[in-house]
Amino acid sequence: MLDWRTSRETKICGVIGDPVEHSMSPLMHNAAFRKLGLDYIYVPFRVKKEDLKETVESLRTLYVRGFNVTIPHKVAIIPFLDRLDSVAEKIGAVNTVVNDGGVLIGYNTDAAGFLKATKEKGVETKGKNIIVLGAGGAARAISFILAQEGANLIIINRTIGKAREQAVKISQIFQREVGTLPLDRENLKKALEKANILINATSVGMSPNANETLVDSELIKPSLVVFDIVYNPFKTRLLREAERAGAQTISGVEMLVWQGASAFEKWTGVEAPVKLMREEVVKDVGKA
Ligand code: NAP
Repeated sequence: MLDWRTSRETKICGVIGDPVEHSMSPLMHNAAFRKLGLDYIYVPFRVKKEDLKETVESLRTLYVRGFNVTIPHKVAIIPFLDRLDSVAEKIGAVNTVVNDGGVLIGYNTDAAGFLKATKEKGVETKGKNIIVLGAGGAARAISFILAQEGANLIIINRTIGKAREQAVKISQIFQREVGTLPLDRENLKKALEKANILINATSVGMSPNANETLVDSELIKPSLVVFDIVYNPFKTRLLREAERAGAQTISGVEMLVWQGASAFEKWTGVEAPVKLMREEVVKDVGKA
């Protein structure tokens, strides 16, 4: 049951996407606003592809304070914004927008959230051999930020063309080599022999297909760090098997919470209550 009160000055935030019902963000942000007594409310907006331009204009003119952007709008929204911060511009995708008095500024807090999650768990990425599984939207933000941090990257993806495209773009920006491989067991085995960190940035293992994994458990060594950005379930099959193999694991919930915290701080100017936001997500994922 929602215990909610708005006022004459309530500021509105939200998320646009299609579908949008699965988003954890309303839960996380509303709990945070309530906890800190901030007069804000966060709502989900289902927005179809063909309505994106008009919706963005409406959010601007309604002075909605800010919003998150999810599938399928993260790239398509860019032409409708006034400015991008430099990270979002280089990644070519936006997941957070701030409305500064009618001026719309795009950010990519997926990248910042991912990095913060690794640092908070004491995982150093600079100079490490890192496998990024996937070359979709989230993988793109992660590969970019890891290259910026000075990691040695191999992008492994089912559709090799997408991996190559990202590798070329990252190499051009950071003047460093990025390896690519098509996804199969042999390639994974070879790459894992030298890897320090493995990141699953595909949707494989996500509920309701929680029993799927791209990585054979025998390939996971105890010295590996395994980060699965899938956050539902909280512990994916990949993470459970990595834990059993003695590897350090990081759940996608951590990235979700830190990207949310970063957006929250941009909209409110107040430090996000990260612990509470994590508890809200874990409670809800636990229910799924
Ligand atoms: P996306 O752009 O649709 O990319 C999906 C990726 O998964 C692609 O690389 C795709 O490979 C790969 N893939 C899908 N099914 C596969 C299969 N059966 N076998 C091998 N590869 C497969 O999606 P996204 O936005 O990047 O999201 C990916 C996942 O990250 C989702 O589960 C999402 O919920 C999660 N996510 C988490 C956070 C967080 O904060 N924790 C943030 C963003 C996203 P192809 O290129 O070959 O199609």
